[in-house]
Amino acid sequence: MKYIFGPVFSRRLGLSLGVDLVPFKVCSMDCVYCEVGKTTLKTGERKEYVPVDEVIKELSDFLSRKPPVDFVTFSGFGEPTLNSGLGRVVEFLKTRFRNIPVALLTNSSLLFRDDVIDEIKKGIDLVLPSFDAASESVFRKINRPVEGIDVETVKRGLFRLKNETNVRIWLETLFVKGINDDKDEINRIGKFVFELEPERWQINTVVRPPAYDTHSLSEVELKRIKEIVGYPFTDVIGVSSARRKKIPVENIKDEILDLVKRRPCPVEEIADALGLLKEEVEVAIDAVVREKRAEFVYYGGKKYLKGREEI
Ligand code: SF4
Repeated sequence: MKYIFGPVFSRRLGLSLGVDLVPFKVCSMDCVYCEVGKTTLKTGERKEYVPVDEVIKELSDFLSRKPPVDFVTFSGFGEPTLNSGLGRVVEFLKTRFRNIPVALLTNSSLLFRDDVIDEIKKGIDLVLPSFDAASESVFRKINRPVEGIDVETVKRGLFRLKNETNVRIWLETLFVKGINDDKDEINRIGKFVFELEPERWQINTVVRPPAYDTHSLSEVELKRIKEIVGYPFTDVIGVSSARRKKIPVENIKDEILDLVKRRPCPVEEIADALGLLKEEVEVAIDAVVREKRAEFVYYGGKKYLKGREEI
């Protein structure tokens, strides 16, 4: 499959089937922390960067087999709303697979546009938009947008999303050491969060190798930001990956069982979800399998760890 990937386990979305609507690395921004890599085509132009008919065919073939999927998620190599066929894919999903929720990860740069808002209204259930800066100078430093996009464009788009659609909004702010983590910027970001009133505000930091030399905040620092802002629906994300030190196998076993009793997961996704090395996870998995508290099952040629009924 060329345009869909997974399902991968995500703490926020559960089993998420990813859809890539742009190739590497087409984006309207070139964020310093980007885990995909440096943007090679920075653009604000909407067009069919990958053939939508082929995306729809892949989705149709895959979802017809009724795999366990909690969300179909537009994400991947760059900014999904740059693809002018986004609305067609959403329409297809809502016609053929209306019970599967659809999520969109976006950098928020094109939400000010009528066509993008209209396409979201065709059936996206949950939008996870980014908002990393509330002032222009910080926005330029962290997100490095294409010409024509400024922080006011982003704010305007987010208000349109909130006021003109019924989607659930989980706003994400990624904090980078020395760029958007000073008190004044935190307060400005917090003020905007209170104005927008998203269902959740999710704060995150750099947890995977970034495109440019940047540094993460600690768990303590993220929790401090949560306290400073005081928005009641705030989640600290990214801590699991940032926190890793040696954790006793016994504790890892409990975390793994907690995951797989809800849904089966491949080993790599367990490691990813817990922010652990695959090798560390494998030791604990061997133990829970020997103790008959979990077992391996196979689906679509892939191996999953599944919690046993009695746990
Ligand atoms: S918007 Fe997303 S994909 Fe684009 S550069 Fe930023 S982090 Fe990377």
